[in-house]
Amino acid sequence: RSFATNQTLLRSATTSRCWASTLVLSEPLNESITPAQTQSTVTAARSFGQDIELLVVGNDAPTEIPEGVTKVYHVALGDRLAESVALAIESVATANDCSVVLGASTKFGSTVIPRAAALLDVSPITDILEIQDESESPTTTILSCELVGQEDLISTQDFIPHTYFFVRINFEKSTYASSDTFVRPMYAGNVLCKVAIKDPTKRKVLSVRPTSFDKAPLTAVGEVVSVEVEPFTKAEWVSESVSKSDRPDLQSASTVVSGGRGIKSGDNFIILEKLADKLNAAVGASRAAVDAGFCPNDWQVGQTGKVVAPDLYIAAGISGAIQHLSGMKDSKCIVAINTDAEAPIFQVADYGLNQDLFEAVPELTDKL
Ligand code: FAD
Repeated sequence: RSFATNQTLLRSATTSRCWASTLVLSEPLNESITPAQTQSTVTAARSFGQDIELLVVGNDAPTEIPEGVTKVYHVALGDRLAESVALAIESVATANDCSVVLGASTKFGSTVIPRAAALLDVSPITDILEIQDESESPTTTILSCELVGQEDLISTQDFIPHTYFFVRINFEKSTYASSDTFVRPMYAGNVLCKVAIKDPTKRKVLSVRPTSFDKAPLTAVGEVVSVEVEPFTKAEWVSESVSKSDRPDLQSASTVVSGGRGIKSGDNFIILEKLADKLNAAVGASRAAVDAGFCPNDWQVGQTGKVVAPDLYIAAGISGAIQHLSGMKDSKCIVAINTDAEAPIFQVADYGLNQDLFEAVPELTDKL
C-alpha cells in the first residue's frame, strides 16, 4: 500500500475565471406552477453562494418561483425533447457564464443533465444527496484507491488447485474545495460515496435528489427574460401520454400509501385507495406488485421507480427489499403493516403493525 497526499489538486475556482451564477433547470411546469422538485433544487443551489438563475423550458412561463431566484429565463419550446432542452441549457449557461448547472435527478433531469454536460464538455455528477458545506470546512479530503497490479499464483499442492491473487492497490489522499465535493449513493443506496470535481476551473453540471433538500418557498415571479434557442432537429417530438389522476402526485404528496405483493390482486388495491382517499394521499407500490400487474408502473417506488420522501409513508404487504427502501427510506414517518414480524421493512419503520393488512387497513380507514 502506498499512501500519498496530493494537495496540488486544490485550486480555487476563482483564480482563473470570473464565474457569475448558478443556473437551475426547472422541471416542466404544471399549468404555470413550479413543481416541488424545482423548489428543492433551488435550495441545493444556495450552497454555491452565487446568484441563482432559473431556466424554464416549455409553453408556459411560471407565475411563482422559488425564493432566492434572481432571474428567470424562459425558452418557449413546444415540446420537451431532451436534446432541445440540453441545447437550451448550453446556450443560456454559456451566454451568462454560469459556473454551475443544476437539475433534479427526476426522469426529466436524468435525461437532460447528461446531454447538457456532454454539450458543455464536462462530466456530470448525478443524484447528489449532499453538497459539502464550505462554511463548516473549506476543504474536504477524499481517500481514493486504484488497482495498479494483479498477480495470480496457482498452488498445486492440493488435489484441487487454488488460485491466489496478489493485488497492488495505491491509496491516495486528495484535498478538494468543499463546494467541489458531493455525496451520492452507490449500489441502490447501500453505500454513500464522496466524489469530487478534480478541475475546479471547469463548469459543474450536476443533478440533485430533490427529496434530500428542503423546498424553497414560492414567491411571485418578477421579470422573465425570453430566450430564443434553435431546437434540435434530428429528432421529433411526436406525442406524450400522461396518466391523469385526481390524487396528489406521488413524488410531491405529503402522504403515500403503498401496497406490495401481500395485497394479492389488483382488485384488492381498492382497500389501499380508500385509505389514501381519507388521508388525501398518493398511492404507491412495490415492483413486485407492479410486475404482477396489480397496478400501473408509474406507481412504483424504489430504485427503478420513483424516489419519495413524504411526511408519512404507509407500506402494506411490502417486505422492505433494499431496492424498495432506496426509494422511500427518507420518508419522515414510516408505518409498516406486515404479517411477517421478521420482514426487513420493520427495521426502517417508525411504527410497525404485525397484522393482516386485510383486517388492519379497513379498520384504520373506518377509524379515520
Ligand atoms: P415480497 O418481497 O414478496 O413481500 C411481500 C410481503 O407481504 C411479505 O413481507 C409478506 O409477509 C407480506 N404479506 C403477505 N400477505 C400479507 C397480508 N395479508 N398482510 C400483511 N402483509 C402480508 N422493488 C421495488 O419495490 N422497487 C424498485 O424500484 C425495485 N427495483 C429493483 C431493481 C432491481 C435491479 C432488482 C433486482 C430488484 C428491484 N426491486 C424493486 C425488487 C425487489 O428486490 C423486491 O423483489 C420487491 O421490492 C418485493 O416486493 P414486495 O415487498 O411487494 O414483495
